[in-house]
Amino acid sequence: MHLQNESNDGQLRIGRHAVDGDTLVFDPSQSAPGSPNVALFSLTQFRTRAFPQRVVESQVVEIVDPELRAQAEARYRDWPTLKAELEKEKERAQEASGARRREHTLENHRRFLEGNGVEYKGVQDSATKVTGGSRKRARSACSRCTTPLDDFLGLRCAACGGVLCSCGACACAPPRSAE
Ligand SMILES: [Zn+2]
Ligand SMILES: [Zn+2]
Repeated sequence: MHLQNESNDGQLRIGRHAVDGDTLVFDPSQSAPGSPNVALFSLTQFRTRAFPQRVVESQVVEIVDPELRAQAEARYRDWPTLKAELEKEKERAQEASGARRREHTLENHRRFLEGNGVEYKGVQDSATKVTGGSRKRARSACSRCTTPLDDFLGLRCAACGGVLCSCGACACAPPRSAE
């Protein structure tokens, strides 16, 4: 895409990066004249990317298809909304995977207690005070799988007050070596 000798008509220039496939917009109203780099707006990352002039010339291929151009222009006009939607979507996906992880750990916790012959008494938010059970010594690592405990779910076993490990173990059972 050649940006030099451009009649300054304020028209957007739209191109595709030949290597990474990104759709890039050159907006004359947003460009800083005299800058060594060319600022192009990425329509996939919704942020400005800076390229040396020669890279723009050798690797960014101008999009001439009117339909593709119109789509890109619409995307450029709406990018703040599109970006917000993308972030919301990402957040939802993270929440969903967090919920799945939580369910999985709780299931493991029930199995862990069952396997140790301990009655399941539920779980508590580990930010609240321990209300039930005798709090056993604080564990810095899981006695079953030896993973360092980071209270990743913010939950502890209501029976022993021990933080839940991702494997589902709490402090309800003695370490394997002591069995
Ligand atoms: Zn564990
Ligand atoms: Zn427990």
